[in-house]
Amino acid sequence: MVQAFIQDLTPRKEAEELFRTFSQSAPIGVYIIQNGRFRSANPQFVLATGYTEEELIGMESLSLVLPQYREMVKEETIKALKGKRSTPVEYQVMSKSGKTMWAMETVASISYRGERAVIGSFVDITERKRMEDALQSSLDKLARNARQLLALSEASHAIQRAGSLKEIYRTVLQHISKLNYQASLYTLTEDSRHLVIAASTIRPSILKPVEKLTGMTFKGSRFPLTPGTFYEQIITGGETTLLSPYAKAVEEALPAPLRPLAGAIVQLLDLKEGIGARLNVGGKPYGMLTITGAGLTEDDRQAGSTFANHVSIAIEKTLLLQRVQEMAITDGLTGLYNHRHFHELLDMEAKRARRYKHCLSLVMSDIDHFKSVNDTFGHLMGDTVLKSVAKILTKAARETDHVARYGGEEFAIILPETSNSEAAVIAERIRRAVEDKEIVANSTSIRFTISMGAASTQVGQEGVVQDLVQKADKALYQAKHMGRNRVCSYS
Ligand code: GH3
Ligand code: MG
Ligand code: MG
Repeated sequence: MVQAFIQDLTPRKEAEELFRTFSQSAPIGVYIIQNGRFRSANPQFVLATGYTEEELIGMESLSLVLPQYREMVKEETIKALKGKRSTPVEYQVMSKSGKTMWAMETVASISYRGERAVIGSFVDITERKRMEDALQSSLDKLARNARQLLALSEASHAIQRAGSLKEIYRTVLQHISKLNYQASLYTLTEDSRHLVIAASTIRPSILKPVEKLTGMTFKGSRFPLTPGTFYEQIITGGETTLLSPYAKAVEEALPAPLRPLAGAIVQLLDLKEGIGARLNVGGKPYGMLTITGAGLTEDDRQAGSTFANHVSIAIEKTLLLQRVQEMAITDGLTGLYNHRHFHELLDMEAKRARRYKHCLSLVMSDIDHFKSVNDTFGHLMGDTVLKSVAKILTKAARETDHVARYGGEEFAIILPETSNSEAAVIAERIRRAVEDKEIVANSTSIRFTISMGAASTQVGQEGVVQDLVQKADKALYQAKHMGRNRVCSYS
């Protein structure tokens, strides 16, 4: 009986011995689980889990597995117990010290001490997982940067094609929106002391609750360049800045009593991170571009800076072009249209009057005894008088009228859709304003007067337009002749 028992034990002992020798030297964790508890564990498994062999034996095997993986591990074990081929599973376990690691496990069903059991092998794949994650996030980042660069380069091209400032601003906002970010363009006021919002993707309706909360109005509002605010630093330092978290930047920018509201404001506007870049024109600060949204990082700062440079170049080009175009049609001293452009405008208005059967009036003016102003007070004072008359004429003119400097001290006003009597009334108003004007300089006071001649086309009278200038001139000559400081109409 005893003999038979010993004989029966021998192969099992041999198998156990074999397992022990193999698992002691195996470079991977090996263990046996029976009824859900560890029955055996090799040194590698002991090392990996941080538990001693004694602690492991009898411990519930699933207790090492992080809860979210337990169901999956259990299913895989049941599959193995049913004799099905098991595939390696990857899950996270927690060591005795509380460190989580990634494990790759393969299980198989065996008979252990006469009962069903599971033998598992365990490889620590934490480092592989870490590298996979790092690789994936690098790939994601690369893809995102590539998408962003492409969008920004498209935007840069579109901006260079824009013909006006408004169009540049609109194009910038449009392309930034496509990247799911918000953008705002601020311009510096002439005295360089405030920033004003020129364009923004943030809709007025979204600003409403913020305005209600803070009691501030944003449309057309000026942000003083208070030292320490992020935008003051961007404008003075010129450094493109990552504003993260944006709430902090907003807090610094708010007046002290409103600072506690910064968090609520960025939440209402859904601003997470931002990038602020200075816009430069002619080597001087022009304004600021802010791009805001979730997930902006240090990597985006350079792209933001390059983009802001392209926007700056486009603005500079457009302003230069505008300036050249203005110079070609305006008079440098008074800012009124010059003689050449006056004739272009008169032609245009004459055509329009004919087509739409409107009347058209022209008023020619000439300052009285202007030579004596120059002679008595000098040419600089003469120039001041010219500028002052230009201002009075501009103020008196309606939006649709055109005021021009016809020659030295002669001015012309084109009055579309205006009858002769209406033109005379306007001219009379101007005459009186000039008469009332007093220029005080160097403790001398100057008063002066102006003579004016008005002429008009009658509806349906073809060909009259051509000699409108001549007729207005004749009326002006008559005003001079009758003693100056008066308005005469050609009849
Ligand atoms: P009136 O028209 O009443 O007959 O007399 P007037 O003295 O105004 O007439 P006149 O045409 O003889 O003189 C015009 C003067 O305007 C001559 C010129 O010195 C002066 N003038 C023309 N252009 C300018 C200018 O750009 N700046 C200054 N300061 N003077 C100018
Ligand atoms: Mg004259
Ligand atoms: Mg004169």
